[in-house]
Amino acid sequence: MTVLVLLGAPGAGKGTQAKFLEEQLGIPHLASGDLLRAAVGARTPVGVEADRFMSRGQLVPDATMIRLFLDRLAQPDAAGGAILDGFPRTRPQAEALDEALAERGARVDRALLIDVPIEDLVQRAAGRRICQASGHVYHLVANPPKVPGVCDIDGTPLIQREDDREETVRARMNQQLGALRDVVGFYRSKDILKTVDGRQPIAAVGESLLAAVDPAGAA
Ligand code: AMP
Repeated sequence: MTVLVLLGAPGAGKGTQAKFLEEQLGIPHLASGDLLRAAVGARTPVGVEADRFMSRGQLVPDATMIRLFLDRLAQPDAAGGAILDGFPRTRPQAEALDEALAERGARVDRALLIDVPIEDLVQRAAGRRICQASGHVYHLVANPPKVPGVCDIDGTPLIQREDDREETVRARMNQQLGALRDVVGFYRSKDILKTVDGRQPIAAVGESLLAAVDPAGAA
């Protein structure tokens, strides 16, 4: 069983890289945000509770999150391992994960931090533009539309989402980075943390992550 924990601030590119690692390594990508959104959509008791926190941009309480995520990790498709994305997000979650894995004779093999400075994250979010009609995503620098301010695909005006505004992004980062530092410190103290420069092009970040997972490349 190979268990990888993918760490990074919101916008660091975890989701993109998790998909790449899933394809390369043949183990499923389990994203806490996806699990929560499915529970909210199905209006399960956990979903109803989680929604109260998520809608305010707060973390879901540890006890609820731990139960939901560990249940998912115990499903048959994760018997050979998994890529964990968005969990653990706090130190108690990291400790609960270790205990659950130890019961199965397993452990977290590697924690992979996609490191992007906060200023870069703010710039990434601040440049994002979304088409009003169907949500196609552009970026003023990285992926500009052919005609400024207009969606290439359906011709509708591009807008900036409220939660991509600089002040909002900064506030969200400051709130979330403290917990991330705790989890990073936890895995560093266990000597299983590898840090990858998340400012590289997407493909290079992916290759760096693969090299960090492969013991031969993890010098
Ligand atoms: P994400 O899709 O990872 O950005 O997660 C969306 C929201 O779900 C977060 O803003 C939190 O409210 C909640 N969430 C996701 N993962 C966790 C976690 N491990 N612990 C607590 N809350 C979480």
